[in-house]
Amino acid sequence: MGEAPGDTTTAAAVLGLHGVSKRYAAGVLAVRGVDLECREEAVTCLLGPSGCGKSTVLKLLAGLLDPDEGDVVGPFAGDTAFVFQEPTLMPWRRVGANVRLPLELRGVGRREAADAAHAALASVGLGDRTRSYPRELSGGMKMRVSLARALVTEPRVVFMDEPFAALDEQSRFRLNDDLLRLRDERRLTVVFVTHSVYEAVYLADRIVVMSAAPGRVHAVIDTPRHPDQTGRAFRTSVAYAERCAEVSERMLEVSTDE
Ligand code: ADP
Ligand code: MG
Repeated sequence: MGEAPGDTTTAAAVLGLHGVSKRYAAGVLAVRGVDLECREEAVTCLLGPSGCGKSTVLKLLAGLLDPDEGDVVGPFAGDTAFVFQEPTLMPWRRVGANVRLPLELRGVGRREAADAAHAALASVGLGDRTRSYPRELSGGMKMRVSLARALVTEPRVVFMDEPFAALDEQSRFRLNDDLLRLRDERRLTVVFVTHSVYEAVYLADRIVVMSAAPGRVHAVIDTPRHPDQTGRAFRTSVAYAERCAEVSERMLEVSTDE
């Protein structure tokens, strides 16, 4: 898709799977022979139909699952954070106390943890909600809190499993923009699972299209952003529509009727 200034596709790979297969205890061969590289300070999107092994690949990359075959390359423990589709906030703790929890678990002092939690919440636009309870927040705000909790330990790599899939479209668009801003500000490496072609094309520097049963890499499409393609204007641009069409074609090759 062409070279662009600021191209992230030439950055070093920090995470990868090489010839990785994973079978679950129930006997299901979830993924087979997966080769994949994720570039530093870039967004890699794993895209594919339901059940094709996206979550399995994410957990393998994050070191949450061990492969049966092959090698996993990556920075684990301490340098990474995980964000799931459910915000999984503790309802009895205030927002600030939810966000500082990972620091408390690491033994960071309460004052320092509270300051870091406030800064993380401010970076997702919720600096004024530290004393709210999760039930007082919208779905989009709860996801922001979940994101702040992931960022509070200042990870290098963030793994995200369909984090915005349950949100309304406007909230999802805003969170997409916030994620790209946070990636730039914090120089994050992001691995992002989605089943939305449109979300993948908007976010990704690299899209990995997977096929199912067992999960395999069907196509790798590098989609670096041109510096002009920032913000909301990109969503309505011809370049965006063309990329969505190209990626949709690749998705059609792997889709099955369910
Ligand atoms: P995706 O995230 O793309 O929907 P998953 O990685 O969750 O796919 O699942 C891939 C395959 O592995 C599916 O067939 C699923 O049913 C199976 N699977 C996932 N988790 C488990 C598990 N804990 N035990 C047994 N089978 C599983
Ligand atoms: Mg999944």
